[in-house]
Amino acid sequence: MGRYFVYVILGGGVAAGYAALEFTKKGVSNGELCIISDELVAPYERPALSKGFLLPQAPARLPVFHTCVGANEERLTPNWYTEHGIELILGTRVISADTRRKRLLTATGETISYKFLIIATGARVLKLEEIGINGSNAENVCYLRDLADATKLVNIMRMCNGGNAIVIGGGYIGMECAASLVMNKINVTMVFPGSYCMGRLLTPKIARYYEDFYELKGVNIIKGTNLSSLVFNSEGKVTGANLKDGRYLHVDMVVVGIGAHPNTSLFEGQLTFEKGGIKVNSQMQSSNTSVYAVGDIASFPIKLFGDTRRLEHVDAARRTAKQAVCAIMEPKITSDFDYLPFFYSRVFSLSWQFYGDNVGEVVHFGDFSGTKFGAYWVNNRRLVGCFLEGGGNEDYVAIAKVIRLKPVVLDFGELEREGLNFVVAV
Ligand code: FAD
Ligand code: NDP
Repeated sequence: MGRYFVYVILGGGVAAGYAALEFTKKGVSNGELCIISDELVAPYERPALSKGFLLPQAPARLPVFHTCVGANEERLTPNWYTEHGIELILGTRVISADTRRKRLLTATGETISYKFLIIATGARVLKLEEIGINGSNAENVCYLRDLADATKLVNIMRMCNGGNAIVIGGGYIGMECAASLVMNKINVTMVFPGSYCMGRLLTPKIARYYEDFYELKGVNIIKGTNLSSLVFNSEGKVTGANLKDGRYLHVDMVVVGIGAHPNTSLFEGQLTFEKGGIKVNSQMQSSNTSVYAVGDIASFPIKLFGDTRRLEHVDAARRTAKQAVCAIMEPKITSDFDYLPFFYSRVFSLSWQFYGDNVGEVVHFGDFSGTKFGAYWVNNRRLVGCFLEGGGNEDYVAIAKVIRLKPVVLDFGELEREGLNFVVAV
């Protein structure tokens, strides 16, 4: 059994939705494009799962957050795909790929051939078993990657009202889930091995602000140690957690956010890899000219900093998807991708954005006892990165514009005194 499409998007997440929209803007014909996804629903804005979806009141539910509402574009409901002649092949896992013969094999035994393939398989969560701990299958152990995970998390939260949760990991999932659990009236203990939260992005001073804020909200933060084992009752439910420093915590539920791993195994040995992802050029084209890679699995050139990076953030997924479609549909007029790394998060009443690169010397600015502060990163005398908590839209637009220019910084004292005015004035 086999089918052929001119364009196949493998994966039905954020990048897939934005790629589909771009295909329609460029004029794809009925029946030329399909999306194959092992999820049961049309592409949606994944960031909603750790934010609006977990709210105790009026939580966001599909179809409200289908792509591409996150970028103020059209909302692509299942009907939208039908109206545009795009085939959504849902609940279908691709189990092997042959890029030389240009075909994919699904778990249902179907062969799908293509002229162009866009790989948008995203990432999967790292499981406890991968760090030597048992318990992933327990009914009160939660991960958060897709709608099924988020639905389980909401159900467990509801059953644990007033109870105790342990959050393993102090990264994005750990921070966003801990905040949501507190808002749902659950006592939270966060455990992570680093000396401060969000260690790969934040400075110790910025991290301290968030940790203090969380502690004021009642979160118990245990740093510099790790989970050693989970304790189960006779029904297989987790009732406790042993930490490596010898402490024991009584728990009613567990949330694990210890990192993600790119879903690239189908293409190992077939395409060129770099930095853990599928290496692409500035047109998002892989080492096979018919195959493009976008989103979390793509390692792409960052012109601004002269290197290659794989980013696990939604803005990169949206923009790499658009770039790949432009490059496929209009190869002669599509210019090289010129991306400014951009990350953001929202927790409690807080909200931050980061642009650029967090390397070099750090200059903090603003009021750390108030609600608006941040940091600049200066590398080789050039301003390369900026983090801002509590900014307004104009602030973030100014930061993005200035970081792209990488202005020379001669006086660190002036940068500190000027703070945000530095970027507004450039
Ligand atoms: P995904 O959106 O993960 O989509 C991958 C798709 O491929 C999925 O549908 C998956 O099921 C499918 N798939 C994989 N393998 C196969 C296969 N073999 N066969 C069929 N289908 C397959 N980023 C931010 O910048 N800000 C945020 O606030 C933010 N919040 C987030 C909150 C959560 C809970 C999560 C999990 C991520 C968040 N991110 C955020 C990261 C962002 O969502 C990802 O970077 C983005 O989703 C990547 O898009 P993608 O299309 O590459 O992958
Ligand atoms: P992160 O990589 O952000 O954080 C992982 C956390 O787990 C870190 O605190 C890390 O500590 C810790 N950790 C790493 N290894 C271990 C270990 N062996 N044992 C215990 N802890 C460990 O991953 P997340 O799971 O938080 O997020 C998963 C994905 O979702 C990422 O792609 C992320 O970008 C994305 N996401 C993005 C959001 C956003 O951009 N706002 C929001 C939610 C998810 P250390 O840093 O010290 O290594």
